[in-house]
Amino acid sequence: MGTTVFERNVPPASVVAHSLAQTRSRVFWLDDLPDHLRPARPPLRGAVSTDLVIVGAGYTGLWTALLAKLRDPHRRVVVVEANRVGWAASGRNGGFCEASLTHGHENGARRWPDEIDTLERLGMQNLDEIEATVADLGLDVQFERTGQLAPAIEPHQLAWLEEWRDEAADDPDVVYLDADEVQRSVASPTYLGAIWEKRNCALVHPARLTAELARAAEERGVEIFERSRVIDLVTPAGGGVTVHTDLGRVDGAQGVLATNVFPSLLRRNRLMTVPVYDYVLMTEPLSPEQRDAVGWRDRQGIGDMANQFHYYRMTQDGRILFGGYDALYHYGRRVDPAYENRPDVWAKLASHFFTTFPQLEGLRFSHQWAGAIDSSTQFTAFFGTARKGRLAYAAGFTGLGVGSTRFAGNVMLDLLDGAHTERTSLQMVRRRPLPFPPEPAAALGINATRWSMDRADHNEGRRNVLLKTLDAMGLGFDS
Ligand SMILES: Cc1cc2nc3c(=O)[nH]c(=O)nc-3n(C[C@H](O)[C@H](O)[C@H](O)COP(=O)(O)OP(=O)(O)OC[C@H]3O[C@@H](n4cnc5c(N)ncnc54)[C@H](O)[C@@H]3O)c2cc1C
Repeated sequence: MGTTVFERNVPPASVVAHSLAQTRSRVFWLDDLPDHLRPARPPLRGAVSTDLVIVGAGYTGLWTALLAKLRDPHRRVVVVEANRVGWAASGRNGGFCEASLTHGHENGARRWPDEIDTLERLGMQNLDEIEATVADLGLDVQFERTGQLAPAIEPHQLAWLEEWRDEAADDPDVVYLDADEVQRSVASPTYLGAIWEKRNCALVHPARLTAELARAAEERGVEIFERSRVIDLVTPAGGGVTVHTDLGRVDGAQGVLATNVFPSLLRRNRLMTVPVYDYVLMTEPLSPEQRDAVGWRDRQGIGDMANQFHYYRMTQDGRILFGGYDALYHYGRRVDPAYENRPDVWAKLASHFFTTFPQLEGLRFSHQWAGAIDSSTQFTAFFGTARKGRLAYAAGFTGLGVGSTRFAGNVMLDLLDGAHTERTSLQMVRRRPLPFPPEPAAALGINATRWSMDRADHNEGRRNVLLKTLDAMGLGFDS
């Protein structure tokens, strides 16, 4: 069994300890929101009636609300949120807004080979439309269409890069960087070469995106209630969808469930997602000298090529966000803030950070946090309707929901309209994936798979029998 670059080049323990000595356990993005972007909204009280009631105010719920108003300004829309707008995954992610609707080309091509070209075209169109909406509505979300850099950090990954380069030979937006070129782009001793996909990804400030979507929706008449957990959902015989909170209820002609990894209000969806915890660090702003030492002038989002990968990016004020690698599943599939506190995982991430950028020794991390990845067995969202077509749902974005939640909003609105569109005819939309098994099988399966992925990274990427079997079944567990 081999070692990884992070085991071969371990930074001094004192560097890691210093970097974490004053780190706050808070979500940087939420801390960074100006007050005018976090207005307190009232809880739901009494009875409200509306055309469309949406449960959940993350990206899925907020995009659906805004798109519903853009399609029909007269449609009344109400959003009911258990906590605050964007407090969950939508306010604490990496901010990689990717074109892919399928969690990458390979996953999409394996599951939907006949539709992958359509899925990729629709995904790029979705990202282009996000860019246009940001400009047209003046959403102040620090949107930057930087593309994404995928560096090879182990010798065996160079062959993957070369294969990728050859497959994309006709695509001017896919650029191959050899060892020297990648160093001139972003200086890291771990990089052996890279592919830069120039158009497939934008970076955003995640919490600003939720705040600005909420603002744009409210300016168009959407009502948002916060601190209002929906505890019951009923479909009255006379039609419509009614959701109940402790203090009130909303009677909607139609409903949308945008509750993602949280326990679904629909029994049939309870086994469809599991929370897998992902951990993140944010540095202080780099000094001009530190920035010169890294380069990174094109500011791409970066995701290395290992099975257990890191993702990292610059912020507009010159910090580096560094996350990923370990993604932890806890027996019982609960969403629980207690799972967020893992000093050992943050210390490992800090060590990997200084292996990647040893020239930044001395830099400190200002923030550390974690969040639940919304994993589904097909690694990407599933969709559907219930209650005679009056209720639509989408969930399970498996760590790639910043862009694809907007696509999901459009799918759900199409489904509620009964419209036959290119989106609703996709197999990805029409067919539900397998659920996760109940415990203890879920924990055994997910943790064995994660162990296998780690082993594969120690074994020149070679996948063991378990991973090959899961691949063949189209079932797997990824971050
Ligand atoms: C650490 C981390 C990093 C990530 N990085 C990226 C990335 O770089 N790029 C990317 O594309 N994706 C990333 N993701 C995934 C992405 O953040 C999610 O896919 C996306 O935010 C999902 O949006 P959502 O609205 O469906 O879910 P959420 O943001 O989880 O929103 C669901 C909302 O529903 C509410 N809710 C639940 N139940 C109820 C109820 N009963 N009543 C009322 N309200 C309810 C919740 O309070 C919550 O606000 C990351 C995720 C994490 C955790």
